[in-house]
Amino acid sequence: MNESVKIWKEISSYIESSMSTVSYEMWFGKLVPLTIENNKLILVSPLVSVKRTVDGFKDTVVRDAIEKSGTYVTDIVVVLEDEAANYKPEKEPVQQEKPSDDDVYKNVLDPSYTFDNFVVGDCNNIASSAAKAVAENPGTLYNPLFIYGGVGLGKTHIMHAIGNYILSIDKKKKILYVTTEQFVNGFIDSLMKNKDNKLNKSFREKYRSADVLMIDDIQFLANKMSSQEALFHTFNDLYQNKKQIVLSSDRHPKELTFLEERLKSRFQSGLTVDITNPSVETRVAILRKKAEIKKFSVSNEVIFFIAENISSNVRELEGALSKVMFYCSLMKKEVCDIDTAKEALKDYIDVTTHVISIDNIVDATCTYFNIKRADIIGKKKLKNIVNARQIAIYLINDILGIPLTGIGDYFGGRDHTTIMYARDKITSLCKTDPLVQAQVNDLRAMIQKK
Ligand code: ADP
Ligand code: MG
Repeated sequence: MNESVKIWKEISSYIESSMSTVSYEMWFGKLVPLTIENNKLILVSPLVSVKRTVDGFKDTVVRDAIEKSGTYVTDIVVVLEDEAANYKPEKEPVQQEKPSDDDVYKNVLDPSYTFDNFVVGDCNNIASSAAKAVAENPGTLYNPLFIYGGVGLGKTHIMHAIGNYILSIDKKKKILYVTTEQFVNGFIDSLMKNKDNKLNKSFREKYRSADVLMIDDIQFLANKMSSQEALFHTFNDLYQNKKQIVLSSDRHPKELTFLEERLKSRFQSGLTVDITNPSVETRVAILRKKAEIKKFSVSNEVIFFIAENISSNVRELEGALSKVMFYCSLMKKEVCDIDTAKEALKDYIDVTTHVISIDNIVDATCTYFNIKRADIIGKKKLKNIVNARQIAIYLINDILGIPLTGIGDYFGGRDHTTIMYARDKITSLCKTDPLVQAQVNDLRAMIQKK
């Protein structure tokens, strides 16, 4: 059975149980699974009315069903029959030996997220080497492996790649990849099934018999104290049995302030690695790789055009490339040219190349730190104001390249050595202090998105 058919069967069974048979048949029963792209299940609808109704259910019934199904699919996309030609239909899978007898461990990994498909650059080479080392020697070298970084930079991809690699060596390994939400929901479900408030056996067994446990986006454990407790015990069990644990988060474990101390220290007891925004060279390499995977013929000029204009994260880069592909197929272009690419991306590029001014940067910094404009420009020496001021100075110099004396004038006639001090201090904190690094990244994204 095709992957998309299999996964749709699982997801739709949950949808079916949440509505009347008549409604289910009328709307969802008519959808035909086509393929899976970027973790999205593409379904073909025969009628506009069916598509509209199903889209209307996306935030409720569909989302719940996807969540409950626990597969790697994150969303469904309903397309009409005439749009279906824009997607590459799946090939029949080669019959493979089952990875494991156990149902809970199947369908959790996206087979396209491999190390081969992952482009290594300055932004991720430590993370990717660590991940490969872990995949080659699970449970021995770096345990746990903790990967952190902003959205869309490849954390989930790397985790799946570890799992896929281990399975390619030994199909019987029990790889358990879950999002933090799935972990928490599974935990709550299992408590509800047991009246005496004890965890039921299947939850414990599912987690504790895994050979590799990967939990994605651990920052969502915020304020979920009993789930943290459950994770603590699961962690200890697996760790003592030398089972590999991989965790991801949007920030350094130190910054997970809502987390119990004992968990935080467990998380840091192995290896912690970060992924940062890709440089333009890496963006070019990623785009080339993605175009090659999708068998999309595209000139260097187009690749550079996208890479130079979309710098926020890899997910957006991929989105831009897909949009360009879609335009080319609409216009029946065999090879994509720069004009088609520019046309396809006019909304994106308008957004990302707007003219940024010093005022924009200072205003964004004030909003972010919740301080007044007069204070950031003025002479106050309160710690939080000084920190915000130094970050604003750093960003003005970094984004706009304005000379230090010019920045000094803007900040109430400060001497250029003061400005230089601020810039150098933030430059070095960006390398050593994850909080400052996160603040600078957040602000940069805010400023560049406006
Ligand atoms: P995160 O989990 O950090 O939010 P994802 O792993 O979901 O990010 O990555 C977003 C998308 O970008 C995925 O489709 C992934 O394949 C792609 N991606 C990210 N980094 C790379 C890379 N270095 N090489 C190839 N693809 C990448
Ligand atoms: Mg992710």
